[in-house]
Amino acid sequence: MISKLPLDRINWVSSTFLIVTFLTAVIGTPLYIYHFGIDFFQVALFVFYFIATGMSITLGYHRLFAHKAFKAGKTVKLTTLLFGASAFEDSALDWASDHREHHKNVDHEDDDPYSISRGFFWAHMGWIFFKLYPRPLANVGDLKKDPLVMWQHKHHQRIGFLVGMVLPTVIGYFYGGWQAALGAFLISGVTRLVCVQHCTFFINSLCHTLGNRPYDSGTSARDSWIMAIPTFGEGYHNYHHSFQHDYRNGVKPWQWDPTKWAIWTLSKLGLVSELRRVPEEKIVLAELREMKLQADAQIATGRSWKINCPTRQEAYDTLLDLSQQLSEGYQELEKAVGDRSVQISAEMLTRWRKISSDVSEQLSLMRSLQPALA
Ligand SMILES: [Zn+2]
Ligand SMILES: [Zn+2]
Repeated sequence: MISKLPLDRINWVSSTFLIVTFLTAVIGTPLYIYHFGIDFFQVALFVFYFIATGMSITLGYHRLFAHKAFKAGKTVKLTTLLFGASAFEDSALDWASDHREHHKNVDHEDDDPYSISRGFFWAHMGWIFFKLYPRPLANVGDLKKDPLVMWQHKHHQRIGFLVGMVLPTVIGYFYGGWQAALGAFLISGVTRLVCVQHCTFFINSLCHTLGNRPYDSGTSARDSWIMAIPTFGEGYHNYHHSFQHDYRNGVKPWQWDPTKWAIWTLSKLGLVSELRRVPEEKIVLAELREMKLQADAQIATGRSWKINCPTRQEAYDTLLDLSQQLSEGYQELEKAVGDRSVQISAEMLTRWRKISSDVSEQLSLMRSLQPALA
């Protein structure tokens, strides 16, 4: 793998920053806590900074600037630009440019900046070690017209240093002198930024490796509820790659997506508007299409191993029957989505969802009956 890395073009500034902050977090912070302990103030400041900077990436950098999933006024833009810079993940302009390339060329070894096809470590953070400046930024013409975005692009390192490092240190000093200031710098400054960065990195690595693909198995992007927890809802990455302009990533009512809830709340307060949502029938259509692909694949493999086993034969026949219903449902829904004159009722969607969930259950049964490979 090492031989595939472009060792002749290392970005020394980014690489040194990533390594020094990581070592400071894993060595300096435990040493500080061992010597001075940790109190409620330090924990609360860390939580505040983790949420403020983490959500400035998910709500601001990602859903607002990179995807334009909603429109925001100056208050939301400025807040997410200030705290987003404090996550030290580049300017919003650079971040959005890389991210739009990722969506456009996902899984392509050369054109996707953090392609999983170049390995887990490359997708996670390896790509940052080799990212050289200046980049073309041809795909962010819209953002270049925004004076706030351009101001942050010019000063993001200074802003990040002041808001993300100096400010928590000063707050710590006023709370409890130099000892608390050092703690705030280490815990809410450095350790917090390392945590936020790796949460973002895990979306590019783990969410392209582990999890389900209920909407599109054509890409490596996966839905992972575990990853949604520390990333404020960004773990539903298969949905996101299927419908990137939706302001929601966790689209089901039970899915953990605080970024979606925050955007919705801000819209009720009049601070953001024009939230973009994919119509429910298009989401169900994608789910039916994907379920049909999985059912077809299972039917193809089940054809040979059902022989001489009544239980498997029965499960196979049931899947075949359900798959037929799924095909009919898919065709019916596809036609209804294409024909705007057809009113798609909630009952129709419930019926199609039910077929899809029956097929899903039958697929699980079939997989449990699958004979062990010789
Ligand atoms: Zn992705
Ligand atoms: Zn995205």
